[in-house]
Amino acid sequence: VVTDQAFVTLATDDVYCQGALVLGQSLRNHTTSRKLAVLITPEVSSGMRSVLRSVFDEVTEVDALDSADSVHLALLQRPELGVTFTKLHCWTLTHYSKCVFMDADTLVSRAGAVVMFVSVLDVFFSNWATADIGKHLPFIYNLSSSAVYTYVPAFNQDTKVVHFLGATKPWNYKYNLQTKRVMQDGTASGSFHQLSFLALWWNIYSASILPLLE
Ligand code: UDP
Ligand code: MN
Repeated sequence: VVTDQAFVTLATDDVYCQGALVLGQSLRNHTTSRKLAVLITPEVSSGMRSVLRSVFDEVTEVDALDSADSVHLALLQRPELGVTFTKLHCWTLTHYSKCVFMDADTLVSRAGAVVMFVSVLDVFFSNWATADIGKHLPFIYNLSSSAVYTYVPAFNQDTKVVHFLGATKPWNYKYNLQTKRVMQDGTASGSFHQLSFLALWWNIYSASILPLLE
């Protein structure tokens, strides 16, 4: 067990905690080799915190950094990032030698993924100290959104890290616990891949997370 390395995610409310829990459980299902940490903000309820503690090794409350944070805003020139700045608190987890940040709307779908993902970051970290700081922060943001796809082949048999980026998250869909099917509303135009990844998310949620929330 590599206890000085951690996977880190962020949830600023009980809704995003559902995503964090599925991510945490998917990592538990596929690797036991690193610690699991979740950053939360004060709005997260006490009931949800105790559920988080049953999946994550470490639950750390941090202050929300939002788009009113002029220092970070000036660096990034990306006001729309809003509350996701809070993920920068990842850098306060200094008791780990290495942290891999993953959005709460991601999951790991097969063993082996994780090694691949970390090795991408090894490359990144190797020049962290010497590289131009202006390139760092956008990379942190991009890494946790679509840029993951640049490095990790997705939407084929090698898919390892699934990221449900965009406005509609897995927890916004309805799921039939009896038929185990994700129900699409009229507006959703999901491809086969999207639907099977959604079913994967709901499978983990219904089997491992819902019982903890009841
Ligand atoms: N996040 C959060 N609360 C919010 C919005 C975002 O905790 O209200 C965190 C969460 O970890 C999320 C990440 O910030 O996965 C990035 O936001 P999101 O995944 O919604 O952005 P997208 O991937 O769709 O660009
Ligand atoms: Mn995301």
